[in-house]
Amino acid sequence: MTGTIYSGINNIYRVLGDDGKYYECRIKGKILKDDEDAYNPLAPGDKVEFFESDDSKGLITSRLPRRNRFARWNKKRESWQVIAANMDSLLAVISAALPPFRPRFVDRVLIAAMQGGVQPAVLLNKVDQGVEGWVEKRLADWESLGIRVFRTSAETGAGLDELKSFAEGKTTALFGPSGVGKSTILNRLIPGIDLTTGEISEKHQRGRHVTNFGRLLDAPWGGRLVDTPGVREILVNGIDPVDLPGWFSEFEKYNESCSFSPCSHRHEPDCGVRAAVEDGLIHQDRYENYIRIREELEEKDRW
Ligand code: GDP
Ligand code: ZN
Repeated sequence: MTGTIYSGINNIYRVLGDDGKYYECRIKGKILKDDEDAYNPLAPGDKVEFFESDDSKGLITSRLPRRNRFARWNKKRESWQVIAANMDSLLAVISAALPPFRPRFVDRVLIAAMQGGVQPAVLLNKVDQGVEGWVEKRLADWESLGIRVFRTSAETGAGLDELKSFAEGKTTALFGPSGVGKSTILNRLIPGIDLTTGEISEKHQRGRHVTNFGRLLDAPWGGRLVDTPGVREILVNGIDPVDLPGWFSEFEKYNESCSFSPCSHRHEPDCGVRAAVEDGLIHQDRYENYIRIREELEEKDRW
């Protein structure tokens, strides 16, 4: 039978079988034959083949090919952690003020999503806290790049209907640091799931997400949402530094005026991208983030 991974704790996976029943599954022989570069074999959204071994229990024999995946680089393990698979889009969730708006975090999430073949979008929550001008400018910049931006308040309910219509009939993952209001949004969108919310200390946060495994949630209005563990940092990896400009789509039309090819858009004379930054045609902060990520990628040979 085939089924979909909903969650996983201590190598036991909750699988919704195509017969509409849930199964508690383990991996047959503990190891899944796998051609991926990640340390976790399964993530929420994965499709698997399994057979029933006991009443409502099963053994997973293989993972079906993924349509896409969202993964983060784990520096300590020097490997990828797949956070979710087979989604229609991934929302980089951030808050307007508390915790502070972190556009550079979002830029990284956007790259990681696109790298895994996932369509990214941005969700600014807590708009009831007030959205400062510089925040609005950065949001408008993403919009000009064709990235959908949602502005919500899980507190007042503002923007949630729009989010719901976007997510209807789709699988949408929510990813962001803890404290931005992911659980509160999910509770509002799926009444009755009662996710724990509130200021959770780093220590407790670790306790709460022992397995570091997200969860697929069925919405009563027809759609699936993916809750993911709160993550503070995300590293860009798996990109040749020379190719990084390609991930900043706004650079493209200014590339042609660079006198060097390829151009790193840093020290080269007559650089079209730098000129565009100076003329305010490319957002300064995006450019600076590009430089930062590029330096990180060049720092050492990661691959
Ligand atoms: P998570 O860690 O991303 O799941 O964040 P939570 O959902 O636990 O929310 C963290 C805190 O922010 C809680 O105290 C929530 O009540 C609060 N919160 C969530 N959404 C909003 C919002 O839209 N506006 C305001 N002002 N507070 C919010
Ligand atoms: Zn250049």
